[in-house]
Amino acid sequence: MATLTFYGGIDEIGGNKILLQDRDTKVFFDFGESFTCGCDFFVDWLSPRNVAGLKDYFEFGLLPEIPGLYSREALRFTDLKYRESQFDAIFISHPHFDHIAHIEFVDESIPIHMSKVGRAIIEAWGKSTPLAKFGEHDYRPFEPGRKVKVGSLEVIPMDVDHSIPGACGFIVHTSEGSIVYTGDFRKHGVRASLTGKFLERATEERPVVMISEGTRVAPSADRRYVGGEDGVRRESDKVVSGTDKLVVATFYGRDVDRMNTFAAVAKENGRQFVVSTRAALLLTTLEREGVEVPKMGRDFLVYARRKETGGFEESDYFKWERPFIKDAVNFEHIHRHQGKVLLNLDFYHFAELVDIQPDPGGHFIHSMSEPYSEEELESEVMKNWLKHFGLRFHQVHASGHLSREEVFDVIGKVDPRCVIPVHTEGSEIFRKELSNVTLPKYGEPIKF
Ligand SMILES: [Zn+2]
Repeated sequence: MATLTFYGGIDEIGGNKILLQDRDTKVFFDFGESFTCGCDFFVDWLSPRNVAGLKDYFEFGLLPEIPGLYSREALRFTDLKYRESQFDAIFISHPHFDHIAHIEFVDESIPIHMSKVGRAIIEAWGKSTPLAKFGEHDYRPFEPGRKVKVGSLEVIPMDVDHSIPGACGFIVHTSEGSIVYTGDFRKHGVRASLTGKFLERATEERPVVMISEGTRVAPSADRRYVGGEDGVRRESDKVVSGTDKLVVATFYGRDVDRMNTFAAVAKENGRQFVVSTRAALLLTTLEREGVEVPKMGRDFLVYARRKETGGFEESDYFKWERPFIKDAVNFEHIHRHQGKVLLNLDFYHFAELVDIQPDPGGHFIHSMSEPYSEEELESEVMKNWLKHFGLRFHQVHASGHLSREEVFDVIGKVDPRCVIPVHTEGSEIFRKELSNVTLPKYGEPIKF
């Protein structure tokens, strides 16, 4: 007998934590944090206490109280007694927060399987962002396409196209047949063919269960799609080629495809692409892993923000930043060469504009999802900054996920016996569109 139990990703986008039990083998697929994690109780600076481990999480039911899963340290102040690990592995589909963040609390002895590229990304992320804590683990980086045996299971990770390199879907051979877990995926990015191969293989497997993401299976129209990564390139090129003023762009910190896109747009328009030290660390790390990325010096320059002494001394910067500082440019360079740069600047670093003093008439490309309603205040503040510096706003983004139509098309082709929607607010739409849907309930095992 085999069961699937969901501890997240139900009626929400993200927070996937899916337990597969087959005979005596117990494996989690993803162990992420909900985007809404605790937002009824925590807001802004009121957040779960670091020192308290899982205590604050358990208090509000934000993580399941499962014996033999968490580390001694994480349980220190809780009523759940530490027990030796009862789990064989955790497989991570991709290193986005909503799929990986809570491994921080997991027992160090449970092996964490993820792609080599994914592993490299969290290494760079952990180094450059103190808030991104993943804990010490027995990491087992896998080669996509190569079978991993865990107890009675065979797990075949396969590359898929998503808004981060190293993303995988999984095909799992259990004693009751094959299951397919899509992770997060799309068919309109630069690695679309990988999604195609994954789906071909998934179809051949004649799976008993397909766990499918449904981010864009939503009741309201999705305005985020502009026609794939090539669409982003076209739209951005239109903005950049039509101006001799400063162009500023913001995008997700680990969206390497987008960095490639902007590096290309900059080059085509005779501009230098200038990125943060954090992006530089990620790109140089991934270059060592053989991922196709813009190269420092050739395709991008690094921007140094004023820190500590304010004099751009090497010692003003974190150790991990220092290798990038010697050849970095600062606000003066950007001010002097406004028409010759494409500057990557995150919203939280907008204060740099005070030093840069762009001439009015420049442009700001917002290359990420449109702000959600709870972030309205933030978008109000963003508007004020743009108005103050005379920068024109452009929304240019391609989603990391399949469209609603594509999701049902893909499921139709794979033709599983049973579909379990995850990572979606559109469970009811799944039920209306398909006849073989099982909706998961939190913590209740689904037999198959
Ligand atoms: Zn996700």
